[in-house]
Amino acid sequence: MSSKPDLPSEGGCRCGRVRLKISKAPIMTMACHCTGCQRMSSSAYSLSALMPTDGFEITQGEPVIGGLQGETRHYFCDYCLSWMFTRPAGMDWLVNMRPTMLDDASWCAPFIETFTSEKLAFAETGARHSYKTFPPMEAYEGLIAEYQALAQSSSNN
Ligand SMILES: [Zn+2]
Ligand SMILES: [Zn+2]
Repeated sequence: MSSKPDLPSEGGCRCGRVRLKISKAPIMTMACHCTGCQRMSSSAYSLSALMPTDGFEITQGEPVIGGLQGETRHYFCDYCLSWMFTRPAGMDWLVNMRPTMLDDASWCAPFIETFTSEKLAFAETGARHSYKTFPPMEAYEGLIAEYQALAQSSSNN
């Protein structure tokens, strides 16, 4: 099974009114066990694909801001209210997409998991690296390099 998406790849919300397209490979994939993600995803954890902003595009519809409506902007379909992606505060180059919005999400296994301190006891993601909160800032460069190498090797098989 590939651990990266075909490019470009399209997707959309539950009702299909908002559609999106990615044209670049994800920087890294994650699962977050924090209670905020548990609530907003109505599930045990959220899934993320960190996307470069210039490889992410809304092709139809107008997503609206929901969630905490703070500096970090959580975007939803205004009709079916699917949580589609997040634009983190102060990181305009990055979009944190929910990869299950894509029509083919089979590749999106999480590489790291965050906030295991808040995780539900039964919730397992298979992630390679686990963090009680977020990884320390200085760990990201190595994690991203490892994820990229892994995605590369899976596509050569
Ligand atoms: Zn919708
Ligand atoms: Zn979270």
